[in-house]
Amino acid sequence: MQSELSIRLNDEGYKNWIKAGFCLQKIRDCLLRFVNTEMEKFHQFLLRTNSVLQRESCKYFCRPAGTNFQRACSLCEEWKRELLNHHTNQNNVIYWGNCSPPLWPKYAWEVAKVYMPRGQANRQGPEKCDVAALLNLINSCDQFDFVERQKVIEIASSDWQVQITETDAVDALKFTDEEINADVIFNAELELIREWMEELCFAVEEQEPLQIQHLNSLNTFKELLKQNKELESVLHQEVEQLYNLEKKLKSGMRTE
Ligand SMILES: [Zn+2]
Repeated sequence: MQSELSIRLNDEGYKNWIKAGFCLQKIRDCLLRFVNTEMEKFHQFLLRTNSVLQRESCKYFCRPAGTNFQRACSLCEEWKRELLNHHTNQNNVIYWGNCSPPLWPKYAWEVAKVYMPRGQANRQGPEKCDVAALLNLINSCDQFDFVERQKVIEIASSDWQVQITETDAVDALKFTDEEINADVIFNAELELIREWMEELCFAVEEQEPLQIQHLNSLNTFKELLKQNKELESVLHQEVEQLYNLEKKLKSGMRTE
């Protein structure tokens, strides 16, 4: 019997998306240990060289939101100053909302989030991040000054469209389960869909006025789930999120 996965992979565009995403996941996996080690070193360096930071954690539950972190206690203010000092682009927008400042003295990864794009708040380590977020960290934190940044920028801005060869473009339904490792592909696919959903949520939250293309993306996703019950059954949380988002979008559009 043809699996839903092989039917999905029969769509050239979809297959291309999965392949490109899979390559990026592999690059991310290769960077994990490197960024983790460097961020641990960076964290130790900050604590060793700035005696103020060695004080106990923030007692005031300082909580930034989005790109805003105005009301910081004196300890968090010092962390903020120090972390900004090590930013490679002082004029960059900082997503302070990624961080929980009371955790800065304890966890290196909480510090790393200062140098990363939005949406990192719930991620406890590099293995939860996508490759773009890790490349952003390497580009933005001067701990990585020894890395050739031009190369990093090249990778980050590459077109990751994978060219499907003629042989590969052959009907995916002809693949047998032995020829493709269905579990590996399915897991990569789930991760990509989750990332895509998350990006959509951020875009909807931040973009005013709400755009019709967001609704179109939601409809595409709904259609995909309708035809793929195996995906729908695993992506419970995302499906719920999707319907909330749709309600929000529709009510937003009516008020325009
Ligand atoms: Zn504080």
